[in-house]
Amino acid sequence: MKKKYRNVQKLFYAVLILLGVFFYQTFFSPDSSTQKRVNLDGDKLEVTFLDVGQADSILIQNKGETALIDGGNRADGDKLVSYFQSLSLSSFQYVIGTHAHEDHIGGLPSVIYHFPIEHFYLPNVDPETQIYDVLFNAASQMDLDIETPSIDSTFTVGDAKIQVLWVGDDKTDLNQNSIVLLLEYYNNRILFMGDAPQEVEKELLSKDIKSDVLKVGHHGSQYSTSAHFLYQVHPAYAVISVGEGNTYGHPKDVILEKLERIGCTTYRTDISGSIHLVSDGENLTFDFLDTDTNGGEDS
Ligand SMILES: [Zn+2]
Ligand SMILES: [Zn+2]
Repeated sequence: MKKKYRNVQKLFYAVLILLGVFFYQTFFSPDSSTQKRVNLDGDKLEVTFLDVGQADSILIQNKGETALIDGGNRADGDKLVSYFQSLSLSSFQYVIGTHAHEDHIGGLPSVIYHFPIEHFYLPNVDPETQIYDVLFNAASQMDLDIETPSIDSTFTVGDAKIQVLWVGDDKTDLNQNSIVLLLEYYNNRILFMGDAPQEVEKELLSKDIKSDVLKVGHHGSQYSTSAHFLYQVHPAYAVISVGEGNTYGHPKDVILEKLERIGCTTYRTDISGSIHLVSDGENLTFDFLDTDTNGGEDS
């Protein structure tokens, strides 16, 4: 009888402890406000860093919605269109030209002529260059408004939330204008830097920029990716969009060494071709695709 009583007593204390743990985790745990969001649908986010040589073009897809960050050089435009048609893409919710250099907006006119686009984002700077005029004319011919997103505004592509961390208005250094985007898909984060230089990185240090993947700024140039910035982002993976044998010597060894020092796995389009990332909201996988999107231009 006594033994039975003791067992009941033990059970009572065990239940009490479990209840205590439950209440602590629910109401007092420091993690309770940042509890993990769970992707219950089983959908996947796909981000493809397309091989466009010495240039950028990144396709984002989730739940039938699509965004494109940059469109490579002029010679990549028709190749990108063919690739998007091979994927049976019918339209884009968002097309973003990060800044007005040819290796980012050169191929966008082809995309604009071939696909309906709901929102077209560009920094609010007309650099009065020929390539910008070609882009501007394409947009006005297709009745496409050019919008400039404001810093800290957000938009969505399927379940992926994308925050605008930076957009500049400097006419003398177009890289400074780069629209910087932070994508959040459940518990994964990807930071897209465009060609933003270290001066812009400094502006971002006060924000929460910790990310799983960093699209390295400016093709691995030494004028981007400061040690302080990289330490704060602390990515597990880095992607460098860069042309084989490019005339700039990108990516610079000093940048590759910095990435190695923080234990980051680095993928490069000049070595691997197009880099295809899949996220289930928790885990990231990478594979490489032959997309035939590189027009061979080195601008
Ligand atoms: Zn640039
Ligand atoms: Zn560039």
